[in-house]
Amino acid sequence: MIPMVDLKVQYLKLKDEIDRGILEALEKTQFILGPNVSAFEEEAAAYLGVKHAIGVASGTDALHLALAAAGIKEGDEVITSPFTFIATAEAIRYVGATPVFVDIDPRTYNIDPAAIEAAITPRTRAVLPVHLFGQPADMGAIEAICAKHGLLLVEDCAQSFGAAAAGRMTGSIGALGAFSFFPSKNLGCYGDGGLVTTSCSETAEMVKVLRNHGSKVRYHHSVIGYNSRLDEIQAVILRAKLKHIDEYNQGRRRVAHLYSELLAGTGIVTPFEDGKGVHVYHQYTLLTDRRDDIMKALTGAGIASAIYYPIPLHKQDVFAVQFAGLTLPVTEDAAARCMSLPIFPEMTEEQVREVVGVIKSAL
Ligand SMILES: *Cc1c(COP(=O)(O)O)cnc(C)c1O
Repeated sequence: MIPMVDLKVQYLKLKDEIDRGILEALEKTQFILGPNVSAFEEEAAAYLGVKHAIGVASGTDALHLALAAAGIKEGDEVITSPFTFIATAEAIRYVGATPVFVDIDPRTYNIDPAAIEAAITPRTRAVLPVHLFGQPADMGAIEAICAKHGLLLVEDCAQSFGAAAAGRMTGSIGALGAFSFFPSKNLGCYGDGGLVTTSCSETAEMVKVLRNHGSKVRYHHSVIGYNSRLDEIQAVILRAKLKHIDEYNQGRRRVAHLYSELLAGTGIVTPFEDGKGVHVYHQYTLLTDRRDDIMKALTGAGIASAIYYPIPLHKQDVFAVQFAGLTLPVTEDAAARCMSLPIFPEMTEEQVREVVGVIKSAL
């Protein structure tokens, strides 16, 4: 059996440190905004090269609070990718704004900068690129568009912890970044967790107020906020794993490069690295006309595979009325032909060869 991601091998390697840290946290009983949360926030900010990192309850909340803190509101349009997890667009709607979906680059699956520029209207306030599957979006081009049109740049970094674009970490390029620590993410905790990054002190202060019931001083509430704090026990786990994130990402790259080497010549379109940044392979996603055959053969051999994402956001029921008639051909083609293979840092060469062997015999 080869799963999409094996969380157990990673836990066993860090078991002593994590177990000890959790027990200490239990003894201390500072469960809400305790010392591990603030330590993790400082360590993550230093790693990512930002002034402030604020731990929140999930990646979805990180996106929501980032947009809210930046003042995105009803009537505003936010340009984003339709080829992503629903949370990217949910967050835009939570603040009352309208997501505007534009097509993607066929090679990287990331939002197409030319399509962004074409979609700008007088109501456009922000651009929300997703660093999909761990590859940074084309940030040089996107930053230039945002600067030219005075738009806020917010990064969805849920799949890109430790990925860099032109030497800058994702999450440190836009005005704000939003990370997810959902267990299967390339930096994951053992429950839900998220992080907002920014180098603007005022915005950071606003995120802190929003995550804690709109309160800076206890029982004094300046705005309507939320209950969205990173958990102390999750922070223990994240601190242990953050020390190894570069090694984890290198492990993912090793697996991905072996897949691509072994799949060469099969007709499968293997992931493209645009060379503008470092791809950390949160997912290894390929394109094929034989998706059903391949997935069936893998399932038969006890090997997991998945489709990220089968239905683009503009085709989801929840957006069907708003986007009826909208066609985004590159996205729709990718959704029809993409599939992802198992990938995790500790995956062995033998496991990769086994997956590829099954694919080759299916073809
Ligand atoms: C996982 C994910 C999110 C949401 O993160 P949660 O922690 O599950 O709320 C948002 N955007 C993208 C691109 C994701 O992959």
